[in-house]
Amino acid sequence: MTIEAPRPSVVDVSHVKVFGIIGAGQMGLGIAQVAAQTGHDVILLDASLDLAEKGRAKLAKSLDRLVEKGKLGGTERDAVLARVRAAKDASELVTADVVVEAATENMDVKIKLFQAADAAMKPGAILASNTSSISITKLAGATKRPDFVAGMHFMNPVPVMKLCEIVRGVQSSDNTIQVLTALARAMGKTTILSKDIPGFLVNRMLIPFLNEACFALQEGVGTPEDLDLAGKLGLNHPMGPLELADLIGLDTCLFIAEVLHREFGDDKYRPASILRNLVAAGWVGRKSGRGFYVYDEKGNKTKSAL
Ligand code: NAD
Repeated sequence: MTIEAPRPSVVDVSHVKVFGIIGAGQMGLGIAQVAAQTGHDVILLDASLDLAEKGRAKLAKSLDRLVEKGKLGGTERDAVLARVRAAKDASELVTADVVVEAATENMDVKIKLFQAADAAMKPGAILASNTSSISITKLAGATKRPDFVAGMHFMNPVPVMKLCEIVRGVQSSDNTIQVLTALARAMGKTTILSKDIPGFLVNRMLIPFLNEACFALQEGVGTPEDLDLAGKLGLNHPMGPLELADLIGLDTCLFIAEVLHREFGDDKYRPASILRNLVAAGWVGRKSGRGFYVYDEKGNKTKSAL
């Protein structure tokens, strides 16, 4: 049995004023919202300026929904949005104190983004990844600042979920871990610390569970609705496994399952064929309007898709 390193002490992070966020998808926008709500300026990047602007417009819509529900004041909504700026490419990350990469869960994509961000960022700035499963140490190895690289894994939806998993790469410095831990806490999150092992702590447990629900479904053990009720009422989970997989994105779930399978070399992690097939069909869950369930334009579940 190995003994864990002591938990990181909390340091002052008042110097972290500018956040760079790469990837304006569901996670990147959630991180942008929380970063801006906690007073940070946000530089938002996607694969093009057009996509970054579309992401910012989406964020504006979700802030509007919060105002309608009375969860956010109109003035605060305007202040939050004013802090988020869509940017054209990595060169604009030069002023960032911390960058969180939240692009598509794909190693080649992330390596290229890490190289570009590293080349643009100022010395001493921290480059973190929100990856669910990709090796932080490999991403760090693509940069000239491996000691300033670590994982900062938020949960979905970011504004609601209380946890942020900090991942220590082999070369992450103590200061990098301390700053990201303090920053996550300043953003209202509780932190846990994981070693850089595939799936870290959260997805090491979650993905095999979701994948097992897929196997049970394809074996005809029960309907999607009954599997989800089993999770909700039998296990007291707030969401059933199939609706949660749809929320995460079936492409992301499959990618993480493949990482666990490949990296551990253990067939217990092999992805279920129904998961592979739905991803191959482009039915990747809520973000595409269809996965295990069908969703309307507002993202509300309407019926089972199977
Ligand atoms: P998503 O598909 O909603 O968004 C990904 C975004 O990355 C898209 O906007 C896409 O255009 C952008 N992108 C792709 N290539 C790019 C490039 N070259 N440069 C800049 N942007 C690019 O995915 P997501 O669910 O937001 O996941 C993003 C990351 O967060 C992944 O690493 C994922 O594993 C991780 N994550 C996801 C969840 C979840 O529940 N979905 C939870 C925790 C962590």
